[in-house]
Amino acid sequence: MITIGEFDIISVQTGTFRLDGGAMFGVVPKVLWKGHEDVDDENRILLATRTLVAVSKDRSTVVLVDTGNGTKWDEKQAARFAIAHDETAIDRALAEHWGLQRDNVTDVIATHLHFDHNGGLADWADEPGGGTRPAFPNAKVWLHAGHWHHANTPTEKDRGSFLRHDFAFLDGSSALQLVEGDSPAAPWDGVRFMLSHGHTPYQLLPVFFDDSHELIWTGDAIPTASHLRVPWVMAYDNEPLKTISEKYAIFERVRQNDACLAFPHDHRLGGGELDFAKNKPFVARTLDL
Ligand SMILES: [Zn+2]
Repeated sequence: MITIGEFDIISVQTGTFRLDGGAMFGVVPKVLWKGHEDVDDENRILLATRTLVAVSKDRSTVVLVDTGNGTKWDEKQAARFAIAHDETAIDRALAEHWGLQRDNVTDVIATHLHFDHNGGLADWADEPGGGTRPAFPNAKVWLHAGHWHHANTPTEKDRGSFLRHDFAFLDGSSALQLVEGDSPAAPWDGVRFMLSHGHTPYQLLPVFFDDSHELIWTGDAIPTASHLRVPWVMAYDNEPLKTISEKYAIFERVRQNDACLAFPHDHRLGGGELDFAKNKPFVARTLDL
């Protein structure tokens, strides 16, 4: 656990899954990435899904950042991505660290609505394939309006990453809190939002900060520590050149503010403090997240 301002923060691994290694590293050849990754015989690499859990000192504000793959997977689909979702991981973390339950979750920051980030927003209400119910019944869900529009009208390229049943319950719901514009304000002291567009439009990346610390949730701009290498950009990205310039912007922030990074998909570490060798960033110290 780390403490930044009013928030105690942990990174909870809510499961693992596998995606094609070539797709995860774009133009980078396998000969360069295979030594760094756990690759299976289908060429898929091991990834985690992580949720950042931030709880205020008085426990009145309980914020989750992203919710993982969720529970609405049939056997065939789960096998395609080797999805192993730990559906009680967040409950256990809330109980163990704070004596809280999922009903106490006040807010979810949904960076974006790809299934591996926010399939966990909703569960099947009764029958698989029927209606859904919110997995965190008392939580507001914060999302950028531009991304909400995109999720409902995706490109041919990223259509497969959006599953309507993950977020249909938000349509017309008072739980949905859309932020707007190029520098949207976050509703909590000690939190800012950054925007990232390269992976998917209007990805909403929270930054937790106080006078001496800053923690950036990198979202799918830098999904794992391996992606700290600037050209290692996912083939999934709608605009890879934007992702590259956004990585440089994040690194600039690391240098200026001594910011640390929290990664959504790294199965080896929740986050790290960076250092630079010949201008190339690397994890100098793993964060105790
Ligand atoms: Zn994504």
